[in-house]
Amino acid sequence: MKAIQPNASLAQEQFLTILSREEAAARFDAALFPRDVPQDSVALPDALGRVLARDVCAPIDVPPFDRSNVDGFALRAADIAQASEATPVRLAINDETIACGTAPRLRVTPQTATPIATGGPVPRGADAIVMIEQTQPADGAVDVRRAATPGQFISSAGSDMARGETVLRAGVEITAREIGMLAACGIARVDVARAPRVAILSTGDELVQPGGVLAPAQIFDSNGPIVAAAVRENGGEADFLGAIADDEASLEQAMRAALSTHDMLILSGGTSKGAGDVTHRIVARLGAPGLIAHGVALKPGKPLCLAVCDGKPVVILPGFPTSAMFTFHDMIAPVLRRMAGRAPRTDAQVAATTPVRIASELGRTEFVMVSLVEGADGLLAYPTGKGSGAITSFAQADGFLRIEALADHLPAGAHADVTLFSAHLRVPDLTIIGSHCTGLDLVVAPLARVGLLARIIAVGSLGGLAAARRGECDLAPIHLFDEKTETYNTPFLSEGLELVEGWRRMQGIVHRRDDARFAGCDAREAVARALSDNDALMVNRNPGAGTRILLDRLLGGAKPEGYWNQPKSHNAVAAAVAQGRADWGMTIAPVAEAYGLAFLPFAQEHYDWALVSARKNKPAVQALLASLHSDESRAALVRAGFTPA
Ligand code: AMP
Ligand code: MG
Repeated sequence: MKAIQPNASLAQEQFLTILSREEAAARFDAALFPRDVPQDSVALPDALGRVLARDVCAPIDVPPFDRSNVDGFALRAADIAQASEATPVRLAINDETIACGTAPRLRVTPQTATPIATGGPVPRGADAIVMIEQTQPADGAVDVRRAATPGQFISSAGSDMARGETVLRAGVEITAREIGMLAACGIARVDVARAPRVAILSTGDELVQPGGVLAPAQIFDSNGPIVAAAVRENGGEADFLGAIADDEASLEQAMRAALSTHDMLILSGGTSKGAGDVTHRIVARLGAPGLIAHGVALKPGKPLCLAVCDGKPVVILPGFPTSAMFTFHDMIAPVLRRMAGRAPRTDAQVAATTPVRIASELGRTEFVMVSLVEGADGLLAYPTGKGSGAITSFAQADGFLRIEALADHLPAGAHADVTLFSAHLRVPDLTIIGSHCTGLDLVVAPLARVGLLARIIAVGSLGGLAAARRGECDLAPIHLFDEKTETYNTPFLSEGLELVEGWRRMQGIVHRRDDARFAGCDAREAVARALSDNDALMVNRNPGAGTRILLDRLLGGAKPEGYWNQPKSHNAVAAAVAQGRADWGMTIAPVAEAYGLAFLPFAQEHYDWALVSARKNKPAVQALLASLHSDESRAALVRAGFTPA
């Protein structure tokens, strides 16, 4: 365990110099390139997925000879210039049949024809082929019923690939198609780039590998697997060496060992220079020239650290997975691809409009992950961000847009070019924007079986309603309580929206099962006891949440300890109580059950859908409604603790 000294090491050192993204990339490039790409010579079948190390020129013509494309007769076009259905032209048949693999012997002289198969070499004298379907046998001769232009149905030598022509370029990834071209040229071995061996290390005392068990305050290592996969996606050979605790000596040892056997080293975490973050200090002494950039004016990803140690790139990615992934793709993948002999990634872009204002930090190039949905006038780009610690903001995005360093926001309605994460964008058939519920996943799941793609964007009930009013989604799931009418959801609908009833969720007070203070209570009694016990810490909900309204009523104006702990989700409440950060709160029954908490029912919450009437007849909307009302979905909802309406 490292010792944390309150004053000196908890105060973050400043980043030495924050470089612009472009400047950092240029310096990194200059320290690494030009360099030779090591090569392997591999047999053709083993070349799949590898990258060509050099251009390939065709050593022969393909096809190697003039070749018939059809089954028919080789002849002279001039002989049949007058042929028609009414006036066929009769030609004598030469005494040979040219099959595939048969070299012709006889010349095609005027008024004669030679039978030829698809792929057969065109004989001397012939300049066209007629299809067998346009001929008729006639007493040892053949009647041709249609005229032909010279060259008809002949592929001439070298028309596919001409000898000496560059047919494949260095940097191309070898797929079945490239294998086919190489085979057609007779090439049995190819020079391919050798994949750089990349060592990957995660750093942090808090990390547990997937498959392990989390102790309190621990998290699973997501960067290790992410970076290893991203390295492979970009042509590297990934060697994940596990997670190392934040201990300078063991880290340095692991880094030196990794560098001695690999071409590149990628770490994550430990760059923010908080207490115990030591990797950057080690990097500085691993080899010349050392640190290239520590701190890049890039968001997400400011704490990125780039170094070159004795010619090998050493990179420390930020700890937060979305930042790690994004900086890898933006700053590291291009370098890795170049070391792997690969062409730069070609990113597809689409034009979209931003439906909401997106704030941005002045002075940093900011990349905003977005989900694309179909709006009335083209694509809309919804930010998927849930904060820099959220992995889903990257994983569930279609792409990203860029806000320049000099702008402090992008207004609603702005035009934006969205760079896609994959070459093809599939716009969802069904767009659901609003409050999320695990029941929602159950109802949406059957759509995938019929090939419908649904996109759920969780922005809360009010955000969903606003999106529905603007026509940006098909449906908005909501659970809004109207105090005046004491009813759910209906009072919030406006013109153009209609209510589709969803399901009920029982709201209740939760506490740990072994907490004797609440033994034998109902919900009201439990709150009364909590209010008279100074040690009973509550966890509240965020203002605006339906649950918060219920809680405030139960509290009757009291603000007990814990009132200002106001997380935004049912799960966060349950986690706080289960982990002992709080003693009681209000959440829904399925969540209480999932966290093993005692549950004291209080009131039914209505989780319904605001349907955009104009979209009601869309097949995907109809499919969703059918699913909602199906026996299958209703049974699944009941199993999960919900009560279908
Ligand atoms: P650091 O840069 O080490 O201060 O880490 C910043 C944040 O990223 C902390 O919340 C870390 O727990 C988190 N983090 C660091 N490494 C990983 C990892 N490999 N997987 C998931 N989260 C990580
Ligand atoms: Mg760390």
